Amino acid sequence: MTHSQRPASSCTTAVTIEDFRRNLAAVRARIAAAADRVGRDASEIRLLPVSKTVPEDRIRTACAAGITQMGENKVQEAKRKAAALADLDIRWSVIGHLQTNKAKDVVAFADEFQALDSLRVAEALDRRLQPTGRGLDVFVQVNSSGEASKFGVEPDGVMGILRRLPSYSCLRVVGLMTLAARTDDEARIRECFRIMRSLREAALQEDLLSDGQLSMGMSGDFELAIEGGSTCVRVGQAIFGARSTPDSAYWPERSSR
Ligand SMILES: *Cc1c(COP(=O)(O)O)cnc(C)c1O
Repeated sequence: MTHSQRPASSCTTAVTIEDFRRNLAAVRARIAAAADRVGRDASEIRLLPVSKTVPEDRIRTACAAGITQMGENKVQEAKRKAAALADLDIRWSVIGHLQTNKAKDVVAFADEFQALDSLRVAEALDRRLQPTGRGLDVFVQVNSSGEASKFGVEPDGVMGILRRLPSYSCLRVVGLMTLAARTDDEARIRECFRIMRSLREAALQEDLLSDGQLSMGMSGDFELAIEGGSTCVRVGQAIFGARSTPDSAYWPERSSR
């Protein structure tokens, strides 16, 4: 084994600025080592800290330790935190499924939306953005695992959606996002990342992505994701500590292993 995957449940809660500095340094070292194994430059891999369920006071401490961007899965939670932490100049990324009636909230505070999974949502976002004259970076979420999840476009539907997104002129389609299979079977996880790379290649060939970003990899699998070509890892528990909220609260259709 050239790398070690650590169960996220073993992450202790980061409270002090030193805790955050230590966790961030450890995650960055693991990112650098994974990049090194496949001859990639670690500077091309973005670390997006995921602060869902983390209270605002601990997010403040994390920011004092140097974090400037934050991912949140649920719009209401993200909106509340963005308002409470408005003085901190955080770049907010919404990384969870969106209902069309919450599009206006995303437009109000988010800099990026990583979970675009339908043209209806694209239309709703664009309609809210048009009067503001602002754009929004979006990733199309792909269901690369074949798991029964209601979120993410099936791989064979991705090109169809990408071909229609240029009509929404406020959306800047920068890449693709996925959650890999929830399993300890490395081969299955790597297969998800391979599917994503081939979709990116197809999309770039047709000039459908303004940037070829791949958002993939979380606390449990970010090293494999980097080896598989990720340019953005979304890491929560390895930075903030283990979550007590079960993942089923965020991915309703997913079994918890
Ligand atoms: C929670 C979440 C993550 C981060 O998961 P961790 O196990 O905390 O690293 C990444 N992506 C999405 C979409 C999430 O909801």
